[in-house]
Amino acid sequence: MPPKFDPTDPETSALISLFQTIGLSGPKATDAARNPKNAASLKELIEQNDLKESGLTEKDGALIAGLAVSGAKLGLAERSYAARAIVDGRLKTTDQVTAAIKYLQSHEVPIQDEEFDAECGVGFTITSEEIDALVKQYAESANVSGWPDLSRFLGGLRTSGNLKWANPLEVKTAAEARFLELFGPKDTSKPAKPTKAPKEPKASTVNNEATTSTPIPEAATSVFDEGFLGKLHKPGENPQIDPKLREQHLKVTGGKVFTRFPPEPNGYLHIGHSKAIFVDFGYAAHHGGHCYLRYDDTNPEKEEKRYFDSILETVRWLGYEPWKITYSSDYFQQLYDLAVELIRRDKGYVCSCTADEIQRNRGDKGGARIACVHRTRPVEESLREFEKMRDGHYRPGDCILRMKQDLEDGNPQMWDLPAYRILDAPHHRTGTKWKIYPLYDFAHCLVDSMENITHSLCTVEFIQSRTSYEWLCDAVGVYKPRQREFGRLSLQSTIMSKRKLAQLVDEGHVMDWDDPRLYTLVALRRRGVPPAAINSFVSGLGVSTAITNIQSARFDQSVREDLEKSASRLLMVLQPLKVTIENLPEDFVQTLEKPLHPKNAALGTSTIPFTRHLYIDRDDFRLEDSKDYFRLAPGKTVGLFSAPHPISYVAHKTDPATGEVTEVIVKLEDGTSGPVKKPKAFIQWVAVHAPSGSPVIVDETRIFYPLFKSDNPLAAKPDWKADISPHSMDIVKGAMVEIGFWKLAKQAFNQARLESQARTEKALREEDTSRGKDDDTPKVTSEQLVGKECVRFQGLRVAYFALDKDAKVASVDEAEDVVPGRRDGDFLVLNRIVTLKEDASKNG
Ligand code: ATP
Ligand code: MG
Repeated sequence: MPPKFDPTDPETSALISLFQTIGLSGPKATDAARNPKNAASLKELIEQNDLKESGLTEKDGALIAGLAVSGAKLGLAERSYAARAIVDGRLKTTDQVTAAIKYLQSHEVPIQDEEFDAECGVGFTITSEEIDALVKQYAESANVSGWPDLSRFLGGLRTSGNLKWANPLEVKTAAEARFLELFGPKDTSKPAKPTKAPKEPKASTVNNEATTSTPIPEAATSVFDEGFLGKLHKPGENPQIDPKLREQHLKVTGGKVFTRFPPEPNGYLHIGHSKAIFVDFGYAAHHGGHCYLRYDDTNPEKEEKRYFDSILETVRWLGYEPWKITYSSDYFQQLYDLAVELIRRDKGYVCSCTADEIQRNRGDKGGARIACVHRTRPVEESLREFEKMRDGHYRPGDCILRMKQDLEDGNPQMWDLPAYRILDAPHHRTGTKWKIYPLYDFAHCLVDSMENITHSLCTVEFIQSRTSYEWLCDAVGVYKPRQREFGRLSLQSTIMSKRKLAQLVDEGHVMDWDDPRLYTLVALRRRGVPPAAINSFVSGLGVSTAITNIQSARFDQSVREDLEKSASRLLMVLQPLKVTIENLPEDFVQTLEKPLHPKNAALGTSTIPFTRHLYIDRDDFRLEDSKDYFRLAPGKTVGLFSAPHPISYVAHKTDPATGEVTEVIVKLEDGTSGPVKKPKAFIQWVAVHAPSGSPVIVDETRIFYPLFKSDNPLAAKPDWKADISPHSMDIVKGAMVEIGFWKLAKQAFNQARLESQARTEKALREEDTSRGKDDDTPKVTSEQLVGKECVRFQGLRVAYFALDKDAKVASVDEAEDVVPGRRDGDFLVLNRIVTLKEDASKNG
């Protein structure tokens, strides 16, 4: 019987400690010590190769331990050779180690490195396009007839030479995509899987605590596990030209997901950007990683401070906290150095062709693609010329730095793209230091690389750029993030282009960039759309490579669904009509307490007076009665929401000049004068009661209609402006709201302030401050999240409204404990967020 294994035995315990020095965890090290023969082999390997404290990762340690077991029969020299290959990062997977052992069984040291590498798939890289092509090719020869053949197919693929070393997950994804094309969706006949309980978002970067204002939708979590986002690679799985780059990358990131949202600070963000924000921030948060907010400020001519500020504010308003705020311009020096390196490697050259010549040489004018004379100029010469570009010896347009790519490639992104150009413009951060500025195709991938981005997610227009992205990282030999593209989001019957938005503003078609009729995010915010509604809209659409063109009515519906759950109800009359209850005394007051939401008691109650003088909505009174009409009319009784008794028509007065009804006299059906008629409908009302400030008069209620007449303004003739609707806003003066408004407004403000403070403090605590910030960098502040629009409610039977930023409400703005109410100088402005029902939104 073998001796019993005792990890506390001094000799064994020394062994376990030794094994931990190669990165093995306690339990793994203990396991490795269990079998005396294997343990001796591992000990020998460690000592022979000085592996102690050589900074191995746990994964490498496990590979070494595996080698000690499976390669126990190899000679010590051969085993050591394999161990060194693991330490050097040449062998990275169990499959590779297995192949190495097999090879070393028939080869003795000295080993031919090249042959060994080839046998073991060292440094193997393959693009996903290549994988797709190989899978397609294999599918043609393999005999497959449906989804049940998938696992056999995969098995075959793995042993077929070229894919042996490819990332199994990528191969599987490609195979499934091919099967989908060949055989349609898998198991469409089967009932759908029961949906899993939604997972909590994991990361701290997402504001998911105690915030009723901007929770990330729960369903959002599944979007990150399925479809396009579910198929993305794991950190470290993206191939590198040199295996060391991966090791370095993983060391820095600790294997976490890193993404970035990289807006150009040349305009306000729009609804389309909310998808990118959702994907970039959401994906990182879901995987416990981090997302940068990176201002892509390589074009100094178009940038403005207000855009920088607004972008940060909007990202935060949507519920996300950037892990770090960076600028492409932070890296101008490193980018310059890499440009020099590119030239040194003879992969870049200074070209002084005119723009026209360059275009012609690229074959853009129908001719053949040809290399220009500068392409073959000596490296030294390009280096000198580039320096001269930098030092201001040339004027803009005189010359550019180009990448030396592949003019034979079918992809225009490979036709010697411009990398640097001369610009005579001061930069908002680097001033006049630089006379040359990198272009998107040069800067974007390299900055992604420097920030160790794992997933560079962007929209599908960039799909061809993926090739140059990868080419450039490899050309200068840096870590290569993986770019993946998802479909843009666009909304019908609106426009999003910055240039056209600017025209609308400049020509006075709208009030400003945040006019509630626009679909910029500042406009949606001002209109009163809750950020949670935007997130759930985007998440509900899902993320795929398809471009999503959505009717704005569908967006409104998401907003409505959110408000239905979250907004308090207030009594409101848009077009007031005076009502006098003749059987109540002049000084009658009854105080009523009513819930603010029929289903959500947590929203609390409001207290309102009920008196002899009321206002109802003009629409709720008619002179001609009809069978299907149940509100107030001669001979009719109608209920008043929350009031103790219904009212019945008695008489009405008209304006002799216009014939318009000016007042309705009614009787309260309180049972004192006979049996009470049961009302068939309830209407909203507000009472006149000066001591309590009732009703609240709204100076302006702004009702918005679509800004464009058609679904597709861009198709209009002679141009999109012909599609601008002549009537897209009504301003109603003198609407009335119950006095519960003040309490609600104050509460909404106080709550927003509290939440914002808590979130901001947390963000500042967690923010990475390692980067020295200048004064210009937009700051994370608590004011960013508190705006008038946080006062939202449903005017019962009317619509959803929010307080506009033009409103002045002194008592609400003041300190927490000030009694709210109307003050001299106040000016109340409400925006209609959305109608209560879809069809009503169309009556313009
Ligand atoms: P525009 O073309 O409207 O000026 P842009 O694409 O230049 O916008 P950027 O500021 O460069 O705007 O965009 C920042 C990020 O937002 C990019 O990753 C971009 O792909 C993404 N994005 C822009 N528009 C949309 C959209 N409609 N849907 C989804 N993502 C978008
Ligand atoms: Mg852009």
